[in-house]
Amino acid sequence: MRKRQRIQVTGCVQGVGFRPAVYRLACQTGLAGFVYNDTKGVTIELQGEEGKIDEFLTLLQGDDRPRLAQINSCKAVDTAVIEGEDKFIIKESDAKGTALSQVTADMATCGDCLSEMADKEDFRYGYPFINCTNCGPRYSIVKTIPYDRPKTTMSVFKMCDKCAAQYGNVTDRRFHAQPVACAVCGPKIWLTDSKGETIQTQTDSVIAETARLLLEGNIVAIKGVGGFHLAVDALNDEAVQRLRERKRRDHKPFAMMADSIEKIKRYAIVSELAEQVLKSPQSPVVLLPKKGNSSIAASVAEGVDTFGFMLCYAPLHYLLFGQDIKVLVMTSGNISEEPLICKNDEALGKLGDVADAFLMHDREIYRQVDDSIVHFIDEQPVLLRRARGYVPTPIITRENCGEDIFAAGADMKNTFCFGKQNQLICSEHIGDLEDADVYRHYINSIEHLRGLFEVEPKIAACDLHPGYLSTRHALSLSNIEVIQIQHHWAHIASVLAEHNLAGPVIGLSCDGTGYGTDGAIWGCECLIASLDDFERFGHLAYYPLAGGDKASKEAIRPLLGLLKKTYGKDFKLEEFGWLLESIEADANKQQIISEQIEKEINTIATSSLGRVFDAVAAMVGLGNYNHFEAQLPMALEGIAARDVEEHYDFELVSGGDEPVQLDLRKMMKQIIRDIQENTSSGVISAKFHNCLVEGLLETAKRARQEKGLNTVALSGGVFCNRYLTNRLVKVLKKNDFEVLFNLSVPSNDGGISVGQAAIAACRI
Ligand SMILES: [Zn+2]
Ligand SMILES: [Zn+2]
Repeated sequence: MRKRQRIQVTGCVQGVGFRPAVYRLACQTGLAGFVYNDTKGVTIELQGEEGKIDEFLTLLQGDDRPRLAQINSCKAVDTAVIEGEDKFIIKESDAKGTALSQVTADMATCGDCLSEMADKEDFRYGYPFINCTNCGPRYSIVKTIPYDRPKTTMSVFKMCDKCAAQYGNVTDRRFHAQPVACAVCGPKIWLTDSKGETIQTQTDSVIAETARLLLEGNIVAIKGVGGFHLAVDALNDEAVQRLRERKRRDHKPFAMMADSIEKIKRYAIVSELAEQVLKSPQSPVVLLPKKGNSSIAASVAEGVDTFGFMLCYAPLHYLLFGQDIKVLVMTSGNISEEPLICKNDEALGKLGDVADAFLMHDREIYRQVDDSIVHFIDEQPVLLRRARGYVPTPIITRENCGEDIFAAGADMKNTFCFGKQNQLICSEHIGDLEDADVYRHYINSIEHLRGLFEVEPKIAACDLHPGYLSTRHALSLSNIEVIQIQHHWAHIASVLAEHNLAGPVIGLSCDGTGYGTDGAIWGCECLIASLDDFERFGHLAYYPLAGGDKASKEAIRPLLGLLKKTYGKDFKLEEFGWLLESIEADANKQQIISEQIEKEINTIATSSLGRVFDAVAAMVGLGNYNHFEAQLPMALEGIAARDVEEHYDFELVSGGDEPVQLDLRKMMKQIIRDIQENTSSGVISAKFHNCLVEGLLETAKRARQEKGLNTVALSGGVFCNRYLTNRLVKVLKKNDFEVLFNLSVPSNDGGISVGQAAIAACRI
């Protein structure tokens, strides 16, 4: 029997070659009708024999779907047969409507395009912007929806006949590939000096000259997919150090790029899983264990035991590496913590003193998108920074958001998030909002993405911290209900959202600082948490922390607080001179901080776990200052002796209705004794980490006993620590807990916005 159905498909179905795939399948199964993009996704009408329509739907949702497509829903309804229709066509996009659509993420160059670029017979031989439906820029070039060429920064390039023929040919790999271009009609590259004076414009010469400059130790700013990179030869220590000085980045490890897995394996250990992630279309930076004695410049990544590597992901990268380059440092093109630079004139203005030359191009980047960073927890890939390749792929929720939601995120490592229908759309990594430029970028980005996803928020969610800029922004919005959400609860909610659960679970939320409901600064929390409520079951026993903002930088501050907590009235500063002088040489300053704590001046009670890491790192001689967030904790993790099973002692104290307290005073005394007995710092670090693992395990067990829950969710910046988290997951599982942790959003504050949005969605 002949029938007609209208099918609505949602998910990642625009900009991924979905319509041509539909066309080919319809022709193959002998069906008539049409397909077009709309603001909901894709609409298909099919007419033909009943069994054929079913066959079509099976094929579409099976292996025949395009490589980058992801179908979230596919709903079919019967409709009246149209007599006389016998062909299948692709219709123009429908720009009307109010519901949501999807812009897809930027994807690494595919194998087919790389082969063509290397093929002398191909008309795109050596063309630095080759792309197709299966690869290339998307999110970074889209100005507005629906995703079609006139709405992208490619609109200024008029396609030549050859490109237009491919773009219009439904059987071609480039059918409706919006950024399609060639050397005749598309974007071009050129090389300038640091003043912007053009040095080369011929593609081959630009590539050759750039490579020569890099191999001679120069710093070159290279415009890529989501912004500029600052590139330098990773084997040249002097050049890498010069980049550090000029970029004003003293210590933070640099990411590197290579053009093959084999090359990366010379410098780092690459597991099978890591290889898969490196080669994925998302092409993130992957943190890999360093190999000893490698020729990578020491100053690339000091004080950590990993290298961050990515493979080339743009055609331009491959062309450069074709010129005998081994490994490049490829770090974000910005100064210090400012936003990534993506405009040519801004690059010259801001990076003119940093880079010796600029490899420019004229494909405008509309949204800057940093490289994403992945590491592994419990042998699963976990995002540490979510940006290029992953944004704006939404997290799909079980329930629809009743109203559109805006979640403002946290102030550090900010992301924000929109909730719309059954999607949580999280922004890319924005940065630390205290920088004025980052804050401006935050405000602009909210507006841009609000437009891109056509969100009209009725509810805003933000942190409880009254001083957060993100909180103040949310509170300043008019005609919108604002919900303030406790920081550590939002962390646990982000895990629940990712795993599509409502709770309750035992939430272990451990990080540096988050504003608590009692006005204290929380940081090591055991919450019985669901999306609609939480109870503080336990926490690290409070200790005094002096000095406001400086407290998260200067290790002497938490250390003195912890010593006071440990020894109480018996604490005498002069008895610890042997320990403290190397951490804070100025005895006067030690005295002042000590008195501050004594008299509770500019001093708060805290359960911060991050600051305990700072104090212990300083005690074992790893430094006294966090030049970047978590520098000292990362150094402490890096030296932990992996074969040590012992742990320091701790106590779990419970009293009446008060939360259970994890008391580390015994641990502090034992660490001090170990230091006096010259125990190696690697052993001390391991015993410290193992103590926290045991302490958290016992807290979770106590919660299970009292609350009858068996699922533990882990979140918070401390769980970026691989040694701690892997060990904790292992012992929790051994004790028959079900363990959940963040996978696709970071466990650090970059995941807060998703948790806030999930909690807000539950309130409506
Ligand atoms: Zn391709
Ligand atoms: Zn062309």
